[in-house]
Amino acid sequence: MSSTAVTGIGELVTCDGAGPERLGLRSNAALVIEDSVIVWIGSAADAPAADNRIDVGGRVIVPGFVDSHSHLIFAGDRATEFAARMTGQPYDGGGIGVTVAATRAATEAKLTGLLAARIRELRALGTTTIEIKSGYGLTVADELRSLQIASQFSPETTFLGAHVVPAEYVHDREGYVDLVTRAMLPAAAPYARWIDVFCEPHSAHAFDADEARKVLTAGAAAGLGLRVHGNQLGLGPGVRLAVELGAASVDHCTYLDDADVDALAEAAEHTVATLLPGVDFCTRSPYPDAARLLAAGASIALATDCNPGTCYSSSMPWVISLAVRELGLTPAQALLAATVGSAKSLRRNDIGRLVLGNRADLTMLDAPSYLHLAYRPGVPIARTLDVGLTGQRANTRPSVLS
Ligand SMILES: [Zn+2]
Repeated sequence: MSSTAVTGIGELVTCDGAGPERLGLRSNAALVIEDSVIVWIGSAADAPAADNRIDVGGRVIVPGFVDSHSHLIFAGDRATEFAARMTGQPYDGGGIGVTVAATRAATEAKLTGLLAARIRELRALGTTTIEIKSGYGLTVADELRSLQIASQFSPETTFLGAHVVPAEYVHDREGYVDLVTRAMLPAAAPYARWIDVFCEPHSAHAFDADEARKVLTAGAAAGLGLRVHGNQLGLGPGVRLAVELGAASVDHCTYLDDADVDALAEAAEHTVATLLPGVDFCTRSPYPDAARLLAAGASIALATDCNPGTCYSSSMPWVISLAVRELGLTPAQALLAATVGSAKSLRRNDIGRLVLGNRADLTMLDAPSYLHLAYRPGVPIARTLDVGLTGQRANTRPSVLS
């Protein structure tokens, strides 16, 4: 087993500190890695000998970003829908059918190549863990295929057969929920860690509380963890259903009443509110009030929701800058939400913080301080630090390993 020392770290952000900021900042630091795991952290002057050395030249090291919500496996794009929305057409979830048709028509090789390219893109922006949802197949065979491909790239795969009711079932919603729970779920479960549902009474294409409950309880019975798309387009039952069923995450949370906020605060140990400000930006929607959630004691995460309809961006640095500008978070709170917070939403302790025994998922900022993540929006200062000298990341195929 060979070791690698990462030295010359001007600012090390462990995201494991005490005090109100909790960032765990160290200056002039070094790390030693063995077999992709952090085995030593300290000041650069005390760094022990290692087989390999990477000097980052005074730059910042932060935990690799954890993008805990994406719809990364699809074919086609919806650029014209985006352009139309920018001239005033509202979003109601209906365009998903366009992506479903393109995804069903694509070959397995095509879908695999598209996903690999997107993963290369997000790794280049500093993301080291990606959750990937199905949901553009919506038949047994097509959902299975999407999850089989996604699971080759990430362990965090989510079965989202209940994304929308496909066109062929619009007059038989009950029949579609049966198909999801009785036929798709058993096929998908071996390739998925999670199940998710688009619970949104404000969209005719999505699922109401009773339908969502059926899907989630069937998923839990099949051994999958629960995630919910909720409260995106208006007030609704998503948040309280997620809390009631012990979901790990309820995502969007754009529209919350006091009872929703109280429920999330009470469930802070188990259920994370995942905020997706890139969607609100790209659909010209209101932003969720993250500061209100934090003040109440809720747990929050940040993710991209990268998808072809409502946010075709995989940039976590951009999401962090939006969260600071529009959600009322400090730069420290936004960075924590994009690392520790989103790791918690995936119920993972081995990522999101740079501590002994955790995975050495490192992101380097070409900047003197982590503040530059929010301060320099749109500038490519973040990238995943390849510590492939241990042999763990020398694959030619791009992959997100954690
Ligand atoms: Zn989503």
